[in-house]
Amino acid sequence: MSVDRLFDLSGRVALVTGGNGGLGLAMARGLAQAGANIAIAARNQDKTASALAKIQAEGVKAEGIQADVTQEAEIQRMVTQTVAGFGRVDILVNNAGITMRKEPQDLSADEWDQVVDVNLRAAFLASRAVYPHMKSQGGGKIISIGSMFSIFGGGGSGAPYSSSKGGLVQLSKSLAVAWARDNIQCNAILPGWFMTDLTAAVPTDQPDRYDLICRRIPTGRWGQPEELQGITVFLASHASDYVTGAVITVDGGYSVM
Ligand code: NDP
Repeated sequence: MSVDRLFDLSGRVALVTGGNGGLGLAMARGLAQAGANIAIAARNQDKTASALAKIQAEGVKAEGIQADVTQEAEIQRMVTQTVAGFGRVDILVNNAGITMRKEPQDLSADEWDQVVDVNLRAAFLASRAVYPHMKSQGGGKIISIGSMFSIFGGGGSGAPYSSSKGGLVQLSKSLAVAWARDNIQCNAILPGWFMTDLTAAVPTDQPDRYDLICRRIPTGRWGQPEELQGITVFLASHASDYVTGAVITVDGGYSVM
């Protein structure tokens, strides 16, 4: 297969949770530029409408699905609706995520559950929901978005966040092993520091921490969301057919400093 075709996603269908903003939208646009049709799933329909316009501008078919990924039935519907609208689902990006910046001793059980339900439980449920479709199609790609907190402890920036992101890596590896014979590759991307709604408050609310982060990134700058597009297209395409269970950092060197 030529290198061009290795990365070509024409005719493929990608479902991106949390694809209406931030890193999810950037990854959805990257997949669209490689030719994939896109379903984005999230709660806020105004954000979804404006994201859809940007994805459709890449010349592909795109659909927004309103879904709260803390609800099992909504995850199932999100996948059913994708397959009904596009006829198939080849790529799942488990991207929806939230954080809770609180010291562990101040966290309630409900707050713990909120974070873990979005970041970890939903990724399991969505992966389980796409599995029969990918299996019957002869294969698929599942990409889960971890974090530097998949590696490091979160402390005041969120014990449930780091616990869920660490768990997400182990989930991804487990699915990789379980579904390798179904030709479904499951990999995790660990982004470093990217300016989005999730992190926008860090410079003002936690200036000391912001300074520390900036000083620690060898590249000397935060990432641009578009800098996740290359790895996402790679992990969604034939170029990565023998890559499964991998955990790939995109962090300007933060995790090796
Ligand atoms: P944003 O806050 O910009 O995006 C989060 C996305 O998740 C939104 O699209 C949001 O849509 C969606 N979402 C949140 N809760 C739910 C829910 N219950 N049901 C459905 N969708 C939901 O953050 P980022 O783009 O920064 O984060 C994307 C992913 O990348 C997350 O998993 C995050 O942990 C991870 N990450 C981000 C880093 C960064 O530096 N920004 C670094 C490392 C990892 P809506 O509100 O409309 O539902």
